[in-house]
Amino acid sequence: MKPEPGVPRYASIAVPIPLRRELTYRVPEDWQDPPATGERVRVPLGSRQVVATVVEPTVPEPAGDIRVKPITERIAGAPMLPSELLELTRFVADYYLCSWGEAIETALPPQVPSGRLRRRVVRTGVARSELPARAVRQVALLERLETSGGVLGWDRLDEPARRAVQGLVKRGLVAVEVISGDSPGDDPGAAPHAEPGPRPTAAQEAVLDELFPAIDGGAFETFLLYGSTGSGKTEVYLRAAERTLAAGRSVIYLVPEIGLTPLLLNTISRRFPGQAVVMHSALSPRERLAAWRRVRRGDARLVIGTRSAIFAPVRNLGLVVVDEEQDTSYKQDETPRYNGRDLAVVRARSAQGIVLMGSATPALETFRHARAGHYRLLRLGGRVASRPLAEVVRVDMRETYKASGEIEILSPELIAELRACVERGDQALVLRNRRGWAVALLCPTCGERVQCPRCSLTLTWHRSVARLRCHACGFETKKPTACSRCGSEDLKEIGQGSEQVEDRLAQVLPDARIERMDRDTVRRRGAHEALLRRFDAGEIDVLVGTQMIAKGHDFHRVTVVGVLSADQSLGLPDFRAGERTFQLLTQVAGRAGRGDRAGRVIVQAFDPEHPVIRLAAEQDYEHFYEREIRYRSTLRYPPVAALVNLIVRDTDELRCRTWAKSLADALRRQEPGRLILAGPGPAPVERIKNRWRQQILVRTAGRRRLVRAVDAALDEIEGVVPRRAIQIDVDPLSVL
Ligand code: ADP
Ligand code: ZN
Ligand code: ZN
Repeated sequence: MKPEPGVPRYASIAVPIPLRRELTYRVPEDWQDPPATGERVRVPLGSRQVVATVVEPTVPEPAGDIRVKPITERIAGAPMLPSELLELTRFVADYYLCSWGEAIETALPPQVPSGRLRRRVVRTGVARSELPARAVRQVALLERLETSGGVLGWDRLDEPARRAVQGLVKRGLVAVEVISGDSPGDDPGAAPHAEPGPRPTAAQEAVLDELFPAIDGGAFETFLLYGSTGSGKTEVYLRAAERTLAAGRSVIYLVPEIGLTPLLLNTISRRFPGQAVVMHSALSPRERLAAWRRVRRGDARLVIGTRSAIFAPVRNLGLVVVDEEQDTSYKQDETPRYNGRDLAVVRARSAQGIVLMGSATPALETFRHARAGHYRLLRLGGRVASRPLAEVVRVDMRETYKASGEIEILSPELIAELRACVERGDQALVLRNRRGWAVALLCPTCGERVQCPRCSLTLTWHRSVARLRCHACGFETKKPTACSRCGSEDLKEIGQGSEQVEDRLAQVLPDARIERMDRDTVRRRGAHEALLRRFDAGEIDVLVGTQMIAKGHDFHRVTVVGVLSADQSLGLPDFRAGERTFQLLTQVAGRAGRGDRAGRVIVQAFDPEHPVIRLAAEQDYEHFYEREIRYRSTLRYPPVAALVNLIVRDTDELRCRTWAKSLADALRRQEPGRLILAGPGPAPVERIKNRWRQQILVRTAGRRRLVRAVDAALDEIEGVVPRRAIQIDVDPLSVL
């Protein structure tokens, strides 16, 4: 459409700031073509220039007396979202109550100045006769390509050769590719032929018999693959992926954390050589962009990645696998606070694809959907090769205390099991879900605990680096010599973290090779994988750590698992405390006995009879579910009701309270009698990084209604409470 001279044109543009509306800009007169939907442009915003996205290329002139600013420039060659993903980001904005621009930024790969990428030239056509004889350089370049096997690194070309490449690209004879970093598909050692997987077991067969017709049928449906740890869910995912790829469609395979899946990545590169690409946030921006481009071009049809991979620009999406669907890492803990698992359903619905979620301990939301028939439940019975689930023994730490008069880190029962395990040449895992040496420093004289100066939290003592650290804001300091309140020099360490457990293990198992895995020891890139590899290779006897050790690994020599302070997390003021504890215990227990030998799990607790601990020990998810859902129904908490967690934050305490009150008042005016409001009141952590935090929890039966009501309330207080002071979490996984 050619512009009519003299008639100004306008476009609607999504800007990446917390503003629930798009803005209208004028299209510069000298633009030949109108902007495209999804095109990236630079626009003035206040005194800044920001990169934003055209969401509607032609809109009417805005009414009223506003001066509409022109678009500054288009950004040529920038990655653009296909329309399907643009729609998905619109959904994210509407559902999670952020701006469309913010949602788009989340879905796009990072901005990398072009030209800095590693690129290579590949031959795509053969018809050299098309070339005119005078195109000497182009002919010479094609010859060079031929002698080098059809591929040439961009860096090896001089300026004239690069210009020749441009000419050949126009003729369709070569293509310039961005080289992605470490995706399994790029592994030069990858087998040229797809390696077959093991023969499915009868139980896997039965599940696949239900899945395959759905995959072939090509209509949207969500499945929940429910099977205990070690039941062989991964093989079902892989077969489903194979089937989908064979049908010419694409697959997104979501995992909680890439660092936890070196073996899976290996399997995938052997089973799907050249077809897979890895997308996750630990890649460098350049690698992420390269992976994104490969997927966008259709060169890789199997994307494996963490939650943001749900935005992978695959074409013709046929299947989304969500492994360990209950995992909290699927929820982003910054704006937009989306859940990758839930977006999988949204995206698959619009693409008419299948969602395959899997878990041994499904989120209550998910199991409830399955019970209600919204998701098709696939039970994967038993463990592969009939390996029994590990036997779980609960140890009452009150008895241990009675016997020794001390709060012991390790019970005699666990010590005995660990010794026998190491003697047999087996391996053990010990879970202590708190890092550091001591949870806090207490002054027993006056009762003061050493606090973070910026947060309302105690500092954790990390003895190995001799620092006190705040786990919320990262503040660090030396250990004080005296109490800041009363001056007493007698400061006591309370609560034992993973560092201290490691130390204690070394005392009772002097000959064992012990290592620790928590956020402190895996800070370096690759450290995580290295530890897992060494454990898998048998170079470590006992691995102690936080919940990191509980997830997903398939170690075959682990026969003992110890769980310390199993009941501690039950006391947290969060309605999901029981669910989280149950999931963690079941998961870590599932790490034992995955090889030929049976496993034993020792669970230490001061309240070992607590129903959650008992049901987890029995690995009885369904009873746990019944019990938990009753409690949620009574209190009207998710999944029985929808919930939004609103936190108002400000450096000034009074202002923070005033704003929270305005927000609560506005909420009360919506849907009177229908919304349940708790708050405003101080959030469980009242101050983080010098900002006060007031919390409001809003609940009601319908999700859509709730989101609309919150949106309307936010609109009402626009101009009264700044939008950026309000943190909005729809379907929160934690209210702490
Ligand atoms: P889950 O994901 O359900 O916890 P995994 O997929 O890790 O369980 O499977 C447990 C173990 O069984 C793994 O070692 C896996 O290699 C093995 N396994 C799974 N399916 C088969 C099969 N069909 N034949 C042989 N071994 C299998
Ligand atoms: Zn004191
Ligand atoms: Zn702090």
